[in-house]
Amino acid sequence: MKRVAFFCIPAHGHTNPMLPVAAELVKRGNTVRFYSFDEFEDKINATGADFISCDAYLPELSEQEKTGLKNISTTEMTVQDIRITLKMDSFLDKEFKSFQPDVVYTDSVCFWGKLNAWKHHVPMVVSTSTFAFNQLSSQYMKNTPKEMADLILGLPRVSKELKKLEPFGYHVKGALSLVQSDNRTDSIVYTSRRFQPYAESFSDHYAFVGPSVFSNAVPDKTKERPLVYISLGTVINDRPDFYTKCIEALQDQNADVVISCGNAVNRESLGVLPDNVHVYPCVDQLDILSKADVFITHCGMNSVSESLYMAAPMVLYPQTNEQKAVARRVTEIGAGTVLNDDSVGGIRSSVHEILSKSAYRKAADECSADFRSCTGPAGAAEFIENAPHSSNGLDVVGELNKTAVRFNFIYWAIIIAAINLIGFLISWKYVWIIGIAAGILSNPISMAIQKRKYTSILRKIQQ
Ligand code: UDP
Repeated sequence: MKRVAFFCIPAHGHTNPMLPVAAELVKRGNTVRFYSFDEFEDKINATGADFISCDAYLPELSEQEKTGLKNISTTEMTVQDIRITLKMDSFLDKEFKSFQPDVVYTDSVCFWGKLNAWKHHVPMVVSTSTFAFNQLSSQYMKNTPKEMADLILGLPRVSKELKKLEPFGYHVKGALSLVQSDNRTDSIVYTSRRFQPYAESFSDHYAFVGPSVFSNAVPDKTKERPLVYISLGTVINDRPDFYTKCIEALQDQNADVVISCGNAVNRESLGVLPDNVHVYPCVDQLDILSKADVFITHCGMNSVSESLYMAAPMVLYPQTNEQKAVARRVTEIGAGTVLNDDSVGGIRSSVHEILSKSAYRKAADECSADFRSCTGPAGAAEFIENAPHSSNGLDVVGELNKTAVRFNFIYWAIIIAAINLIGFLISWKYVWIIGIAAGILSNPISMAIQKRKYTSILRKIQQ
């Protein structure tokens, strides 16, 4: 029997998939301490794990910091992650000494979980509530100019905060090393190999266990008329404008509509509701999805996984780059359509599109069967109990990195030779243009070569 310390950030989307894993570990006789926040106390207690409150270590936030977090600013989240880690340092030192965990199970962006596992030399398993991201799968995420600006302008602030970790015994190479998936870290991902982009590039250190949910419900779509379910998740759901448009779009349709609007929206602000529309601050999402024929979703990873698990095709309305990556994958498997036009007419026609074409439903059905064949929370629990794991398979990312190094060496040798040749033979005046163009092109060319290499490795594996 193991002692397992769970760590997570205060976010439903990150906490929810860890709960069935905690329950499973407890059921199997392990002792689980779940370091979390008061908001999640009841849910955690229900798993049988010991809830340890970390609210006292949440920093006071300025208005600017609150706005940054609300807007999912990577810089702000990183800075606050580091501050919480520092505030929790002596508390967690004592906890690690008294509890002596055999394994740490930590969310992938929960710095205090990861850093303390390393500091106290305890085997660590990472809980990945999104896709696993490496250099290939992160191609699915396209940063907007605003997100790029946040990342670049935030660098000095992040590196200043990172330096504060060192004196406390936390050795960090850079912020990226704290969040990126690598092929040596034991990781659990709550999706299937089929749904994970570039799944074969991840080593045996990854367990793709499928959605981690409590529900025993199975999809049952038999009813008099279609059910449309709408939710923008638990973080950026303060969108009365969007809910109002959905209501207008669907009020005179032959369908029932359920909207989960979160606590930030006042239901009265949505006006008098038509008979076929029901609005709640929070619903039993899995139960509704088991009956739903269309889900208008913000494309949070949990919502999409739950939707596919319950065979509900989707109208995809992603807001962040991570959600856009999830939306792209859903369209690739054919289980949803992106809401490019979020006007009343656009919403209505996207819902019709899903309801009128059986191909969406068929793709969602196939994905549901695939997810249900995964090992789920029981597989995750077994993986944690047996950590640390070794990997005998091929390190595909290692191979890709070698290819990238070879490419860069040859590419830059050719560019430098070309610059010198042109400089000596023609003129030095414009060679800087070649340098800049070569710099801009090197990454896309390197990625294209790595993707080709990946395809050829895949072919060899499949032979
Ligand atoms: N959820 C729920 N009831 C609701 C709305 C959401 O239980 O009315 C749950 C949902 O089942 C999912 C989580 O909240 O597990 C939302 O996570 P997701 O990753 O989809 O989005 P986030 O809230 O992190 O943006």
